[in-house]
Amino acid sequence: MSHNLNLAVLAITTILSSFSKNNIYFRGVNSFVIQHNNRQITANNSRLPSHYIATTSTTLSFALNNNNNNNNIIPKRSSTMCPPAMTKAPASATAQQQSKQQPKTITNLINGKIISETILTELKEEVLELQERYEKTAGLAVLLIGSRRDSQTYVNMKQKACEKIGIRSYGYTYEDNVTQDEIVNKVKELNEDDNIHGILIQLPLPSHLDEDVIINTVTKDKDVDGLTKLNIASLCSTNTHVGTTKLDWNAMRDIPFHIACTPQGCIELLDRSGIEIEGKRAIIIGRSNLVGMPVSMLLMHRNATITIVHSRTNNIKKVVSEGDIVIAAVGKANFVKADWLKPGCVVIDVGINSIDDDSRKRGYRLVGDVDFEECKLVTDAITPVPGGVGPMTIAMLLRNTVNACRRANHA
Ligand code: NAP
Repeated sequence: MSHNLNLAVLAITTILSSFSKNNIYFRGVNSFVIQHNNRQITANNSRLPSHYIATTSTTLSFALNNNNNNNNIIPKRSSTMCPPAMTKAPASATAQQQSKQQPKTITNLINGKIISETILTELKEEVLELQERYEKTAGLAVLLIGSRRDSQTYVNMKQKACEKIGIRSYGYTYEDNVTQDEIVNKVKELNEDDNIHGILIQLPLPSHLDEDVIINTVTKDKDVDGLTKLNIASLCSTNTHVGTTKLDWNAMRDIPFHIACTPQGCIELLDRSGIEIEGKRAIIIGRSNLVGMPVSMLLMHRNATITIVHSRTNNIKKVVSEGDIVIAAVGKANFVKADWLKPGCVVIDVGINSIDDDSRKRGYRLVGDVDFEECKLVTDAITPVPGGVGPMTIAMLLRNTVNACRRANHA
């Protein structure tokens, strides 16, 4: 925590959930100690990220700078909100608590784990409501084809997350040598099953299977991965020259088709961290169907000015340095360096790469496409790997499934 704090230490014990979409800025505050789920986190700037605000169990202590003791609370987007009630906490008690347990300093971190947990809690309520009001339980079918250990792990994680919030998951596993016809017929059967609202085919598939054919056998409404051509086409339509209905891209839950999970998770991370997208220069590194291309479309729909960078781009470093927001989806460990970045930019790191690490029991560790240790020093906000985009991908899969159930039942 910073030096010259003379200090008024205050505690907010209940934060109003009506602030959930807004960062709160505290004038004259230069650091926070956030106690969240028995953890202490120090944020070394005046911004209280929105995902802490949404959680009523969060207790917040903050230190006021000597020069300015007017603890004004400034919601970033709305001027109509009332500030949360504040009560003064005994300074000595808080100081004692801090000296016992040194808070871990995580500056400008966008914590996907915490944000995704908040989303799962919200979804659990929606699942319950669908059960109570419409007697419908959201159902997700998951097809695991072949024996890849990483795919098995991902499928387990997805099914566990379903259980956690009350979505019924139906698992189908196949040997590596399963025929294309068998998979296609199963998908067709699931398309007709009213208990199934979403169908997920865990990728990649064994090489003898045609991924394109199998994915596009899933109906648009049940394609909760958002990877069929019909869903991708919907995402790429700007609605400017066709039709009269403009979609509200600020309300992704209400978009009437499925958006790929990882890109949707990236936008949700920005939104729930109070990061403005409109008018910003966004640089997306990678142009895959799975991440780079759809996240670019989403950013464009949210009125960012986008540049997509790929393996044939000249002078990537210069292009990336123009970004207010940088999304890295390359698949190369620690690819983006601090001197590529505009100081104060926001970085979302989608990459998941394993690198050798003898200090770990398993001999490796996961890192992103961004050199986190050096880049966190120049960014305004950055996601870690793991614990950034990864958990959001699962949360968005579940959101798509709940949305599919709502739409199927006109709820
Ligand atoms: P991908 O299909 O392999 O695409 C990689 C993209 O990076 C391509 O567009 C490629 O350009 C570009 N690229 C490769 N080398 C480059 C270079 N030297 N300079 C500039 N661009 C380069 O990968 P993906 O499926 O999009 O995934 C990207 C990363 O995200 C991977 O690490 C993956 O594991 C991770 N991922 C994470 C999640 C999650 O939930 N967190 C979900 C999906 C993916 P070209 O098109 O020119 O080849």
